[in-house]
This record gives sequence, C-alpha cells and structure tokens, in this order.
Amino acid sequence: MIQRTYDYDVLIAGAGPGGTHTALRLAKRGYRVAIFDKRTFPRKKPCGEFMSPECLPLLDEIGLKETVLDHGASRVSGMRLHGFGQAARGNYTRIGELRLPSGFGVALRREVLDTLTVEAAKAHENIDVFEGWSVSGPTFDEAGRVHGLRLRDPQHGAREFRSRFVIGADGLRSRVAQGMGWSSADPKLDRWAAVARFRGVERQAEAEVHFLDGAYFAAAPIDDGLFTINLVVNRGAIPGGAANLPRFFDEHVQAAPVLAQRLAGATLEGKIEVCGPLATRTTRRTAPGVALVGDACGFVDPLTGEGLFFAMRGAALLAEAVHMALENPQHEARALRGYERARRREFGPRYAMARLLQKGIRSPRVIESVLRSFSRRPGLTNLIVAWTGDYVQPIDLLRPSVWRSALRRRELIQADA
Ligand SMILES: Cc1cc2nc3c(=O)[nH]c(=O)nc-3n(C[C@H](O)[C@H](O)[C@H](O)COP(=O)(O)OP(=O)(O)OC[C@H]3O[C@@H](n4cnc5c(N)ncnc54)[C@H](O)[C@@H]3O)c2cc1C
Repeated sequence: MIQRTYDYDVLIAGAGPGGTHTALRLAKRGYRVAIFDKRTFPRKKPCGEFMSPECLPLLDEIGLKETVLDHGASRVSGMRLHGFGQAARGNYTRIGELRLPSGFGVALRREVLDTLTVEAAKAHENIDVFEGWSVSGPTFDEAGRVHGLRLRDPQHGAREFRSRFVIGADGLRSRVAQGMGWSSADPKLDRWAAVARFRGVERQAEAEVHFLDGAYFAAAPIDDGLFTINLVVNRGAIPGGAANLPRFFDEHVQAAPVLAQRLAGATLEGKIEVCGPLATRTTRRTAPGVALVGDACGFVDPLTGEGLFFAMRGAALLAEAVHMALENPQHEARALRGYERARRREFGPRYAMARLLQKGIRSPRVIESVLRSFSRRPGLTNLIVAWTGDYVQPIDLLRPSVWRSALRRRELIQADA
C-alpha cells in the first residue's frame, strides 16, 4: 500500500557527503529535511578516502572540521607521482599571492567520515534520517514537476513522500537521475577499481600515484595506521571470480617498483573490493522541483582525488539555490540556472582536466616525459598538486604571478623510481 507524507520542505536521496552537507546547510536556514539512504551507517564506500585541502573550510562551515581531525584523520601534505622510472613530488604550498586554505589535506576511513556527517544530521532538529530506505525514483505532478520520491520502507514496502523540493544525492547509479532520464554510461571511460587497505606501511606525509601501462594506483595514509590503495583499470583487465583478485592485484603492485617496496612486509586488512563501471554522465542536473548533487551528477576520476570536494562544494552551491527557490518560488527557474552555471564555472575546467588526464595516462611515453619535466620543476608540480587540492581555481591560471611563482622553484627532486 502506498502511503503519502507531506511533512518536509526537502527530500534528499542518499546520505553520502553530497546529501548530508546539503541537508545540514538547508536545515541551518530553517527548512525541514528528510534524507533517505538504502544502507545503514556505518557503511563502507569504495574510495581513496582522501580529502583535498579545500574540503577543510567546507567541513568547517558545517561544524565538522574539528570532529574529523579529532577522529584521527591523517594529514596529507602533498602528492608523490611515480611511473616509468620517473618521480616527482608536489606539496600544498602557497602559490604566488593565492589563498592557501591549509597546508594539508586529510584522509579518513569513509565509514568514519560518513557516519560523523550522518550523526550530525540526525542531531539536527530539522533533519530526519531514514536508514535502510531505498529510493526507487522521483514522482511528478500533472504539470510534470517533481513533487516527491517513491521509496521502499524496510518494514512496510512501497511508500511515497512529497515535498516542495527533491534532491538526488544517491551517487553514481542515482535513481533520481535515472528517473529523470538524465544519466547514461560513458563507454569511452569504462573504468573499474580494486580497493584495498594495508597495515604496516611506513608512514609518509604525502598521497601517492603510481602509473602503469593502462592502469594506475592512487594511495594515501589514512587513520588507524592504515594505508588505502585503489587500483584503477579498464573493465577488460579485471579478472572474473573473487579468487583471482589477490593475484591480479599483486601482479600490478609488482609492476610498480616503489609501491611494491612500500608494501613489502605489509598485511592486507580485510578483502580487496571491486567496483565499477565508474563512468556515468548526465545531460542535466536540474528541472522544476529537482536537482542533483555529488556523484549523481556524473563520474569524477579518482586520479585527482576530487570527488569529495565536488560533493561538498556542490552541496554549498545547491543549498543556496534551493533556499532562493523555496523563499521565492517564482524565482526557482533562475535559481536552478544559477546552480548549473556555478557548477560549470567551478567544476567544468576540472572535469575537462580529468578527461585530458584520462587520455594522457593511456600513453606511457606521455607519462614518462611529463613526470620527468615535473621532477625538474618542483614549482610546477606544486601548482598541479595545488590544482588537484582545489585551492587553485581555473581563473587563477590566467594570473602571470601564479606561473612566475610556479616556474621560479627549480631545485631538483631526485627520482627514486
Ligand atoms: C575507487 C574510488 C576512489 C575514490 N577516491 C577518492 C578520493 O581519494 N578522494 C575523493 O575526493 N574522492 C574519491 N572518490 C570519489 C568519491 O568517493 C565520491 O565522489 C563521493 O563519495 C561522492 O559523494 P556522494 O555523496 O555524491 O555519493 P556517495 O558517497 O556514493 O553517497 C551516495 C549515497 O547514496 C546511497 N544510495 C545509493 N542509491 C540509493 C537508493 N536507490 N536509495 C537510497 N540511497 C541510495 C548510497 O548508499 C550512499 O550512501 C573515489 C571514488 C572511487 C570509486
């Protein structure tokens, strides 16, 4: 039996960072929000678990920065890049006169990070969190406006909630995006990931990327003395059957000599998990009564570790737009256009850069020569690392002072791969 409820201003599908950050920002403005997640927390989420420096001010704005640091998040001071005998290192440093949010990013197990945010949402008087509730899709009024969500309640089956606005924050395979007919797989980027955690790896201050022919590892030191690693490959490369996975993973590790050395003597914590396909894209993010945020908007390549920033910053942009739309319903279309524009301005160049990287990393020769020139120009590596740290904005690349600062530092970093 379908039951309908109208108690909320905003319904949000998904209690990951995109959904919870948007909820907390809207609740602070006095809106009543319901969040639905098909899982119960704590839950794991395949991820490199690394947050760029620019995530810290965003966590601060919702009152969670200190909580995250207090829960043992490890501080990450930059990135080491390895591949084909080359190595380069970049730090989160000030570039020219640009603002530096913090000299470090942070890395924390996703089950810890996401549970902290869900707990903050549950503690807010304007938010109800429904765990174990699965979203089936959006519902529409006669005029075609989205006016609610179809759900499966773990106890009573099919339900329908209605509200003034609906948000799809339900990740890569968003039922809201699918229900709107906006999402499709991106066949050109058919990437899969194998994700593992190791104990007993010597602590380094930086995150690491290790390039191989047709694959790469992204790794970071996280809380609880653990080291998290993602191996990202094309779909064809992933073997069938879980039994073959450890050997497949190990063969790739052995092809990355610096990583193999770091993992010698370390022990695998838990199982290697596989996830994919990762690449989806959307044609739209908004329509009357509905908007998407975070991974629901499309794939963010794990190489640059920016997905969490996109989700958190996207939540800040969307909360502003939804507030404007709810305050003045006649301005909803303008508010949603503003959200799409802001996303294009802030994330468009970053998606474009990720696509360029995707093409570049298919060629060992390109990686080798890029890493060689980075190793000779540490300032340039700092600039690239600052870009992936999200505190260098696309517009900043037009400033001569940024390039002067990046090209000035010439001290050589010894290649150790
Ligand atoms: C292998 C890998 C490595 C990555 N490494 C990094 C990294 O190091 N740093 C970084 O910044 N980003 C990384 N990312 C990206 C990052 O994980 C995502 O960008 C981020 O989690 C997006 O947050 P979100 O809230 O949009 O989605 P999610 O975190 O995926 O949350 C979506 C939520 O929706 C729920 N949900 C899904 N379907 C339904 C449904 N039908 N009904 C109800 N609930 C539903 C899910 O249970 C989940 O809780 C990585 C991604 C992958 C795949």
